[in-house]
Formats: sequence, C-alpha cells, structure tokens
Amino acid sequence: MLLKTLDDLVFDNRFARLGDTFSTEVLPDPLNAPRLVVVSESAMALLDLPASEHARPEFIELFAGHTLWNDAAPRAMVYSGHQFGGYSPRLGDGRGLLLGEVVNSRGEHWDLHLKGAGLTPYSRMGDGRAVLRSSIREFLASEHLHALGIPTSRALCVTGSDTPVYRETRETGAMLLRMAPSHVRFGHFEYFYYTRQHDALKTLADHVIAEHFPACREQSAPYAALFREVLERTAEMIAYWQAYGFCHGVMNTDNMSILGITFDFGPYAFLDDFDANHICNHSDDTGRYSFSNQVPIAHWNLAALGQALTPLAEADELRATLELFLPLYQAHYLALMRRRLGWIGEEEDDAELVQRLLQLMQGSAIDFTAFFRELGERAPADAVARLRDDFIDLTGFDDWAEAYLARCTEEAPSTRRARMHAVNPKYILRNYLAQEVITAAERGDYEPVRTLQEVLSRPFDEQPGREHYAQRPPDWGKHLEISCSS
Ligand code: AMP
Ligand code: MG
Repeated sequence: MLLKTLDDLVFDNRFARLGDTFSTEVLPDPLNAPRLVVVSESAMALLDLPASEHARPEFIELFAGHTLWNDAAPRAMVYSGHQFGGYSPRLGDGRGLLLGEVVNSRGEHWDLHLKGAGLTPYSRMGDGRAVLRSSIREFLASEHLHALGIPTSRALCVTGSDTPVYRETRETGAMLLRMAPSHVRFGHFEYFYYTRQHDALKTLADHVIAEHFPACREQSAPYAALFREVLERTAEMIAYWQAYGFCHGVMNTDNMSILGITFDFGPYAFLDDFDANHICNHSDDTGRYSFSNQVPIAHWNLAALGQALTPLAEADELRATLELFLPLYQAHYLALMRRRLGWIGEEEDDAELVQRLLQLMQGSAIDFTAFFRELGERAPADAVARLRDDFIDLTGFDDWAEAYLARCTEEAPSTRRARMHAVNPKYILRNYLAQEVITAAERGDYEPVRTLQEVLSRPFDEQPGREHYAQRPPDWGKHLEISCSS
C-alpha cells in the first residue's frame, strides 16, 4: 500500500458528474467543538491513510464538516422508497452528504458520506442531524459485520460535539463518516421510475453498470443482467444475516444498497437468544421486519426494484429472475450453516437438520452465538452432551443430536475446532454492549467504545482477559427498546 496523508487523497466524483437531476450541491454544516470519538484504522487503510493521520487536527476538522478538500464535491442525493410497505415519493439525503469519491492505490473508488452534516433540500421535517448514540451504533455494526465477513458499508469515524440535538430528550450531535463503493439504493431507481423520468433512470442504470457491474454491458439484455446481479448479491447478504442472527430492523427500499451490502443501520440487533420472530425495531408494530421476515421482505424489495426497471428490461425476464431469489438464498444459507455446524461436503438431509435445530432452539433461550462456538469447542459427542441440558425438548434434542453425530462421522476431527472457530464468532455486537459504551460516550468517556470496537474487529479470536465481552446479556440488557429515532 502506498501511504498517503489526508492532503493528498485523490478524488474522482463520478456520481456528482451525473449532475443536478441526481443530486444537489450542499455544504456541510459543522458541529461545535468536535472531538474524535472512535476511528477504524482498517477503514482508513482503504483510503491508504496510516493510523497516524487521525491524530492530526485536520482529521477532525474534515470529518466534523469544518473544512473540505478542494477536490471534494459535497452533494445530497435524491431517492424515494417504500417505507414499511407504503411508497414515499421523495426521500433523499436529508442529513447526509456524499462528499466525494476517493480512489485508492488499488484503483478502488470509495464514497465518503458524512451522516449528520446538516439540512439539505431533502430534510423534510428533520433537523439534518444525527445523534451520538445512533452514530456509534452504525459505526460499531459496520466494522463488526465487516470483521464477520458479512457484506456491508464501512465506517471511518464518529465525531462528537457540543451541538445539542433534540430527540425524545436532548442529545449530543455527532457525525459518522460512512464509506461504500456506492451509495445508490433501490430507492434511487424507484424515484426516477415513479416520476416518469425514464431517461434519467437509464442514465442511472448505465452509471451503476459502468462503475460496478461492467460485465452486464456485454450481455444481450444489460438491465436484466443488472437486476440479476443485484438479486444475487442481495440473496447472499440475507443468507449471512439469517446465518449469523443479524436483524436489520428497517428494510425499507431506500435502505437497500444496489451492491447488496448491509446499509443504513438503525435499530438493528444481533439475536441473543434465538427467536425467529424477533422484532428489533420498537417502532415496527406489525413485525414486518422481524428476523424471519427478512427473507420474504428482501424478495418483496427486489420486486419493487424490478418494477422500477420495467422501462429498461422485459417484464418477463425480470419476473423470471425474481423467481431465482429463494433458491439462491437457500443455497447460500445452507452453505453457511453447514460451515457453522462443522460439516464438510453436502448431504441430502442437511437443510432439514438445520431447520430442526432452529425449531428446538425456538423458545429454549439458546444463545445463537454461544451455541455454535460451544459446538466447535469439543469433539461432536462431547459438545452435544454439554449443550443438551439447555434445551426444553430433550427428546427432540436427543433425536437431533443422534442425526447430527451421524452426519459428523466423516469429518476431519483434527481440523474441526479450527474450522468451526473460524466461522463461529466468540464475540458478537450485542445490544447491551453497545448500550454500555454509548452511555459512557455520552458522559464524554470514549475509551469503552474504542475497546469494544477493537474486540469486535477480531470476533473469531480468543482474546484473553476480554472474555466478559462474550457474555450473554444481563437482565437489563435483554429487552432494550431501540426505535427508529436516530
Ligand atoms: P433513515 O430512517 O435514517 O433511513 O431515514 C429515512 C429518510 O429520512 C431519509 O431520507 C433520511 O435522510 C431522512 N432523515 C432521517 N433522519 C433525518 C433527520 N434528522 N433530518 C433530516 N432527514 C432525516
Ligand atoms: Mg435510510
């Protein structure tokens, strides 16, 4: 890697060059007395920045909106989307700005998006701000999902401030610097479709193909091929969420990335106890975005994207592609679960055994992270014997365990523990852990969030002295109510 300083980042603002139909120039509105709360050195490395750069005062000034690079082109993007099933005709970046696209030494483009940067033409009734609490939550989730190997946007840093922001109570204003190869959402396509700007819709699709899916250009039906790419990546992302117990919480189409990466974190949660019906968003009264609904909802969202592409591609072809979602999802999911269970190869009954395990877990208060880690800790027979007592349906578990042990016989025992520990995290971002560090940060103590970020950046490693971060939630942390307010 060729190391750079903040001053010599190279910008190539491809989205900004699409012009005013797609985004509006807006300057960031800075926060008062900004301070660096937490930073990701691995995200910095994506910009070729060495860790030492975050000690410079310029770092905070840039990421709290006080100064800008000469080559930056800060803009608010326009999009719309289906929110909780209803169509909202105009959303857009109401509190975030695309500062520009940095090209790193490997030739990759990284969008720099400053969330909480003040009012824009799309702010509607909002104040354009983000609070420290939600900025820390998005930061931790992005970097942790990445460490787990789950496709996601990244987060460079959070800056806190003296600027008051009012939600249910008075909170602290903050900014999050988010990074992704693209900030285009399903909702971008919906906006140009429903406003009947079909030329702009085509321009947008051509942009996404050229910058992110160049192989589609060679296809006889490039826009149908684009849909297929998005669908495949979304199916894989959802499989990861289901396999690792991640609940997004607000799967509106404006929060779905065209790249199939986890995007726009609100009231998300990783499951503690397995519960297929878990609703992590306190504002989600009907459970539209419950844990198990994430699969059909992703399909629904893809249908909404497909609809928006009908001026560009044959409806029949889009519909046929949509049919591929479930089988693709199931194949990815099963592959992940096989690895989590320590299985090599494929057997016909694998999917059924996974389903039976989840049914046994349901209602038994089985921790979805600790279970798999424990399972890999010992030889199969030993492991299931130790886990058995936690289940309510002991006969059911014994039946399952017998089938599981039979399935394990062919496996290479000498590599089992290493294989399983490489895919079954010891540490997971539990809501209570996030809550503890947020409480400290709100008092001005940033050490806990920095330490937690460090622990969660190596989720598969044993980290001696830090075992308490792997603990299941205390009573107060089991049912935290996290709402959309952010
Ligand atoms: P979100 O729930 O963060 O995905 O946001 C949904 C929409 O509301 C997006 O258009 C956001 O830009 C906008 N929005 C959310 N919070 C604010 C805020 N505090 N000020 C202005 N716009 C906001
Ligand atoms: Mg959003």
